[in-house]
Amino acid sequence: MACTKKVILLTGGTGLVGQGIKSAAEQNPQPNEEFIFLSSKDADLTSREATKSIFEKHRPTHVIHLAAKVGGLYGNMRANLQFFRINMSINDNVLSVSQEYGVKKVVSCLSTCIFPDKTSYPIDETMIHNGAPHTSNYGYSYAKRMIDVLNKGYNQQHGTNYTAVVPTNVFGPHDNFNLEEGHVMPGLIHKVYKCKENNTPLTVWGTGSARRQFIYSLDLGRLFLWVLREYQETEPIILSVGEEDEISIKTAAELVAKGFDYEGEFVYDTTRSDGQYKKTASNSKLRKYLPEFKFTPIDEAIRATCQWFSEHYKKARI
Ligand code: NDP
Repeated sequence: MACTKKVILLTGGTGLVGQGIKSAAEQNPQPNEEFIFLSSKDADLTSREATKSIFEKHRPTHVIHLAAKVGGLYGNMRANLQFFRINMSINDNVLSVSQEYGVKKVVSCLSTCIFPDKTSYPIDETMIHNGAPHTSNYGYSYAKRMIDVLNKGYNQQHGTNYTAVVPTNVFGPHDNFNLEEGHVMPGLIHKVYKCKENNTPLTVWGTGSARRQFIYSLDLGRLFLWVLREYQETEPIILSVGEEDEISIKTAAELVAKGFDYEGEFVYDTTRSDGQYKKTASNSKLRKYLPEFKFTPIDEAIRATCQWFSEHYKKARI
């Protein structure tokens, strides 16, 4: 029996998460799936006209919507207004144009850092709108929360199948390793690389006590494909390692040091903010669907990312 061809358009397909999905799709190809990975150079999705043109060109049946203005704690704190406005425009354009072009399924990307600041732990999928997000990244957070509002609205009024996933902190090849703008893990990888090269102590920003659940982009890619192919709910699903796998920033720094075989001194710059102390997320919904899913051990995933960074230093986003 001939199976219907799926044309899967990935907005933000050239970034960390998009490239993780690309690797996962290459490892587990399906004959009826064609993937198109977009960058901002293909279309600036803050423009509705540009969004329409790229949909007109590719006529996708499915969309994985990743494009976003993304940044670490310090980048967000400096530019909450821009994070809000840019992400609101991108999300509104991508979802409305998807509906206009009859896209069957859209999987968008939320984040655990958009959850209420004052909450009980572990956080789960039902708690997204239960209170204000942390003040450091309220622009990004409110814009992301509106994706869930849009998904429900489109599904109710247009019978679409739009949903969202909620990853915890992602790391892996193709990340943004910029020290000022990037997230904590790529920042540590870049710093340790430099410290090893220059034989200098490693300065970790903050006390090192904040805790995070990290997910390797290749594991996230495998889970994204499962959501695209199998998951039928409108309600978002958290894609994360277990609560027991949450680690401190200090442990993350030590694992990165091991990843580079760096044995120098560690200094904690406590004048820098730790951000939210923790945001422990429950992956029990995911585990109900996929009890056997195996995450890559974090030391292995960090070592592989350190190696990728060393090999791609000249081309990486630094
Ligand atoms: P990256 O910064 O690595 O990639 C962002 C992607 O979005 C790039 O392909 C970029 O294109 C594209 N993009 C940015 N602005 C625009 C624009 N105006 N028009 C079109 N495309 C644009 O981000 P990640 O891969 O880390 O993030 C992907 C998704 O995952 C985002 O929605 C993010 O919120 C979410 N997420 C990420 C987490 C993380 O830890 N990184 C955690 C949880 C969620 P170009 O390459 O041309 O700049």
